[in-house]
Formats: sequence, structure tokens, C-alpha cells
Amino acid sequence: NPRNALNFSGGPGALAQSVLQQVQEAIQEAPGAGLSILGVSHRSDWFAAVVAEAEANVRMLLGLPADYRILFLQGGATQQFSMVPMSLLSGSTLAADYLHTGYWSGKALPEARREGPVRTVWSGADCGFARLPTDAELDFAADAPYLHYVSNETVEGLQFDRVLGRDDVPRICDMSSDFLSAPGDYERFALIYAHAQKNLGPAGVTVVAVKEALMAGMQRDLPGFLDYRAQADAHSIYNTPPVFAIYVVMLVTRWLRDDIGGLAAMDAINRKKAALLYRALDDSDGFYRGRAARADRSRMNVAFNLPDAATERAFLQQAEAAGFSGLAGHRSVGGVRASLYNGLEIEAAAKLVEFMEGFRLQWR
Ligand code: PMP
Repeated sequence: NPRNALNFSGGPGALAQSVLQQVQEAIQEAPGAGLSILGVSHRSDWFAAVVAEAEANVRMLLGLPADYRILFLQGGATQQFSMVPMSLLSGSTLAADYLHTGYWSGKALPEARREGPVRTVWSGADCGFARLPTDAELDFAADAPYLHYVSNETVEGLQFDRVLGRDDVPRICDMSSDFLSAPGDYERFALIYAHAQKNLGPAGVTVVAVKEALMAGMQRDLPGFLDYRAQADAHSIYNTPPVFAIYVVMLVTRWLRDDIGGLAAMDAINRKKAALLYRALDDSDGFYRGRAARADRSRMNVAFNLPDAATERAFLQQAEAAGFSGLAGHRSVGGVRASLYNGLEIEAAAKLVEFMEGFRLQWR
């Protein structure tokens, strides 16, 4: 779509053109509903079928067995920072294990501490969140109620390439910024959550995949809205859900399944985009300086700096004028961040790299 800028935003981010086309049509009339998607009842059979397909697609893409429930909740990933410890930590004398690897895992920590004891297994604060821990630096407690970590730190551009923790302690992971970007051993997690507004759809809905065995042991005295079991029993229609956002998630997961051909194919595309960007950093004679340690580089968020703040400002201004949107780094760290979510095409990454090379040569 030549009218649109290329969207490198950290989120909400780029979605596939074919999905946007279908969304546009559904605003007028959702296929089979005879109504605009914005006016479809959440109690209709039509919407129940949308939820069922979205659930089935997420389950299939992640390779999760039948003993996981797939939920579509509100409140963003931020509400999960609280719902997890409210359900699994309040009243506990044993500490939950948390990793502090960047801005977003740092937001989860104080919310957990409100509910019960927390142990920070490792913190990257001393190294300015420039890298992730090695296995030798991690010592997980056998008696922790659960382990919580963030698979991809969106702000710093750090991504784990392995599953952490012990098999006898429930693993809980915030996968908001790399959800459905690559295949993985997802059945090794007891609970996965991810908000929609990066790889999956518009803001307003958060996907949770939770093992039934974990739900069985959860705190019972919670407001219904914040109770995973009440949400599961209601098939994500506990109250009026974000019908539009869930519809788009269904379309995106259908696109991943049918057009892309699954997560291995998506991963191959994502790796190509990331390789283009990181090569541009590495071949820039130190002009573009990657934030993350090489071993921990994220394939979703490429965060980097230029020689000084004035050059960064000029870069961001010229990039915006050239049709590259959303490249400013997160407000907490500044710099530049190119987010390469599933919906961003390889050609867009190639165009950005071309722009970066031109800018560097002109600046020198
Ligand atoms: N976790 C991660 C990894 C994120 O990237 C973000 C936001 N970008 C959040 C949590 C917070 O999400 P929300 O705004 O949906 O609450």
C-alpha cells in the first residue's frame, strides 16, 4: 500500500496487508454475519465460531495439547503481571522466581511483590540490560511456586533462544513481543501470555495459554474477572469481550496458518529480516552500534545507537520523512529501535537497510 509508511513501531505494529484488507471489508460487513464487525453481538453463534477458530489456530500453531486452555482476556500484558501472582503467589510462604532482564520484566516484579514473596534469580541492571544471563549464572529454586520471565525484552532488544527453568517448577512466560514468531517447545510452559498488539492484531486483547493442571491449584478467592478459571469456563466471554480485536487475531492466525504456512516458515522470514538489519549494524564501521550483546540479539526488536544524540535526531527525522515510521527507541532508553514483527515484509527491512547505508555515507 504505497500511501502508508512502513511500520517499524515497537507496538502496535505492522499487520499483513491481506489481513488489513479483510478487516476493511469486515467493518462494512463481516463475512457470514450480515453486519459490521463493530456491531456483532458477543453472544452470537457467529462470534462463538470466531473464538473457536482463533483458539484452534493458536493451539495448532503453538503445538499445544488438549490440556491447555486458550483464553482471550482484557487488561493487556500488564494485567497478567498481577493476575499471575494473585492466582499463584498470594498466601504463599515460598518465593516465586523472577528474572529481571529489562524494562518489561522489571514491570512484572513489583506487581508480584504486592501479592507474595519474590526472589530475583538474576538481574541485568548492573550491565544496563545489555545482555541476558548464561545458564551458569542461573540457579532456579526447586520449591518456587513458579518461574516468571520475559522471552523477548521489547525495549532492549534481547531475546532468549532457549527455554529456562526446571521441569518440576511451572514456567510462566510473557511472550508479548515474540509470540507466534517461531516454533518452540511451548508445552514446556504452564502459562504463556501475550498481548495482541505486536504480532497478532490490534490492542485490546491478550492471549493466555494455560495448562489445566496449573489452573486447578489456583487461588479461589478472586474477583471473577481476574480468575483464569472463571474466564476459561466462560470461553473468554465472561463479560463483553473486544469482539473486533479477537476477530483480527482470528484473521492473523488464519494468515499464519494458510498464507505463511506455520511458525517454521514465519521464523525463516523473521530470521532473514533480522539478518539484514544486524548485518547493516555490523558492517557500518561502528556508526550503528547495536545495544544487545550479539548472543542475545532479538529477531523482533533491533535496538541501536548512532555516534551521538544529534545524529540520532537527524536520522529519525530523515527516516520519518522517507516513510519509515516508529523507529524512535522506547522513551526509557532513547536511541533507535527497528521492530520487525511478523507483519513486516522482508522488502520493508531491505528498504530500511538501504536508507541506513545512504544516511551513513552521507553523514561521514
Ligand atoms: N510485556 C512486554 C514484553 C511488552 O513489550 C509490553 C508492552 N510493549 C508489555 C508487557 C505491556 O503490555 P500492555 O501495554 O499490553 O499492558
